[in-house]
Amino acid sequence: MTLYPASLALHERARRVLAAGVSSQFRALGVPHPMAYVSAAGARIRDADGHALLDYTLSQGPCILGHSHPEVVAAVQAAVAEGQVFAGQHAAEIALAETLQRLIPCAELLRFASSGSEAAQACVRLARAVTRRQRVIKFEGHYHGWLDSLAFGVAPPFDGVNEPAAPLPWCEGIAASAAQDVIVLPWNDLDAVRDAMARHGQEVAAIITEPVMCNQGCIEPRPGYLQGLRELSDEHGAALIFDEIITGFRLGLSGAQGRYGVTPDLATFGKALGSGLPIAAICGRARWMAPLVEGRAFHAGTMNGGNVGVAAAAATLAVLERDDHAALRHIARLGAALRDGLAALGARHGVALRVQGPGPMFHMAFATLPRAETYRHLASDDRAAYRAFCEAMLAEGIRLIERGLWYVSAAHTEADIAVTLEAASRVLGRMERPAALR
Ligand code: PMP
Repeated sequence: MTLYPASLALHERARRVLAAGVSSQFRALGVPHPMAYVSAAGARIRDADGHALLDYTLSQGPCILGHSHPEVVAAVQAAVAEGQVFAGQHAAEIALAETLQRLIPCAELLRFASSGSEAAQACVRLARAVTRRQRVIKFEGHYHGWLDSLAFGVAPPFDGVNEPAAPLPWCEGIAASAAQDVIVLPWNDLDAVRDAMARHGQEVAAIITEPVMCNQGCIEPRPGYLQGLRELSDEHGAALIFDEIITGFRLGLSGAQGRYGVTPDLATFGKALGSGLPIAAICGRARWMAPLVEGRAFHAGTMNGGNVGVAAAAATLAVLERDDHAALRHIARLGAALRDGLAALGARHGVALRVQGPGPMFHMAFATLPRAETYRHLASDDRAAYRAFCEAMLAEGIRLIERGLWYVSAAHTEADIAVTLEAASRVLGRMERPAALR
């Protein structure tokens, strides 16, 4: 028996026509089964069975203003009425690039792309073109999109794997030859990078990192870590790439690079940039963007800089910048209150929870280790218990990401946070304590 018969029926229909019933593999993880939705507005999304769910997935992050923010919708409608994509430049695209150039420290030059995966791939190509080296250092637990070149060490098993000599592919079908160009290291461990650079520095084109490890555990960099990566990159002539697809705009309009005061050579922005419309940005210092200027390295895309994505991004940034970034302050305040409220509920119900992250996004897990500082600290998380928690929260009318990440939007209210904490309290009170934590 499912509480969601219409969703289940749509999923069964979908499976006959969409592989696994989904268009992105992460959606196949939905609890209790992949769900279908009919509409969304503000902080709420309506599922196919008519439940209005309070949404902390924000569609995996992009809907930073909430769903269908009126100014974004109006901008998109106006733009699409005047053409979809011109395969040429338009003033709005240039104005958006100028805004990003003003906001983002490393953005001396930009290019627009359509997804985060492509943007990360473009940064790696640029780093290789400038350095004329091949290898890229990436970190355990970091996700930079689904493309082969960076799809290693994304969610490796915890037991003694991840030898730098043999990076583990994320899934089947990844070019085995790509592995030799990737070095996977533990994150938040400067000595590991220093050692790898001492051995392989001459071959390393780039170090790529999520500046906060959002895709696993929502782990912030240790003090000095990003600065240390900056120094090691400089010392060895490699590019430092920040993948800001999640941190971009949640942690401020200058991204994590502004927040932590470390300017990378290249950076990606996506998700929140377009409020759910397909647009991403590749930003870089002039020297690292030069291969594009010179036409030595190619980056292309039929849909890039399309009118609708550009309009959505311009409207989103305008709202975020307004009143001295009031929307971002609201998100940060509510997110921190929710994070701390959930942690307190763990203590009240005697359930060992780990709730951590900057606030605008944070991660929750059933775990005895109260604080994680690197991927391997997530080894004992009880993921099955968290999935059960998600399912119970859904029945309370609250939609969560099954992997533990929570996103807060400008459309959430204090009342929403209170409702959520009450629901979480009921669920935690009812939940059988996860076996690992008894
Ligand atoms: N980088 C990071 C840090 C991400 O979180 C994601 C998506 N979750 C991507 C890249 C890929 O972006 P997209 O799904 O738009 O291709």
